[in-house]
Amino acid sequence: MRFNILDAVNYLKVKLSMADKLSINEMAKQLVSIGFECMRCGECCRARSGDNTVILFPDEIRLIMDTHGMTPDDVCEHSIPQFIDDSGILHCFEWVLKRHSSGDCIFIQADNNCMLYQQRPWICSTYPFFLGFTNGGAKPDIIVSECKGVGRPMNEEDAIKLAELLKGRLLAEITEEIRLLENLEGFEDWEPARFYSSKGCKGYTIAVHDSSGMTYITD
Ligand code: SF4
Repeated sequence: MRFNILDAVNYLKVKLSMADKLSINEMAKQLVSIGFECMRCGECCRARSGDNTVILFPDEIRLIMDTHGMTPDDVCEHSIPQFIDDSGILHCFEWVLKRHSSGDCIFIQADNNCMLYQQRPWICSTYPFFLGFTNGGAKPDIIVSECKGVGRPMNEEDAIKLAELLKGRLLAEITEEIRLLENLEGFEDWEPARFYSSKGCKGYTIAVHDSSGMTYITD
């Protein structure tokens, strides 16, 4: 069965309204009971601890570029293509923060400080937490990734700040997805592409779709 964009957008709008109703105080209480303190170990930024992919939205890319005088190519790369069209163009739907060939984020420094600290993407400023619609639930739940700072005491003020960031991130993610789908054209004629890494696309033209439209890249 073909993916129906209109249905997907309508479903995302329902999720958006659920996310909008989230109570910051309730989430903050939950966060205090889980507990967290960043240990500044830098593990979440490095490849040795597992998946450190940081997905970026267009306004996050612009903020980093403007603040640090960088080009798009300095900051990000395309994600793994999901589809190929009948002209042989690959299509993907995410920008990913640049990493060294080692897999470590290019912004992590030897002392574990982040060069982007004030402009950190949503994913970084909310790690190890995120909000997800698990088990078809009517409201998003707080999900916790592996991190040695989890379980450490957290004060109410920090928990409220984190709850606000988590809610902001979820609203931004859903809004990005809705806008991306609303901009998508020609999708019905694409076929699934079999790529397992973004490095295997040499020689292809890649169309990266996001909420601001489409950008062509030649790898
Ligand atoms: S941007 Fe900063 S916090 Fe995010 S992965 Fe890179 S070094 Fe870590």
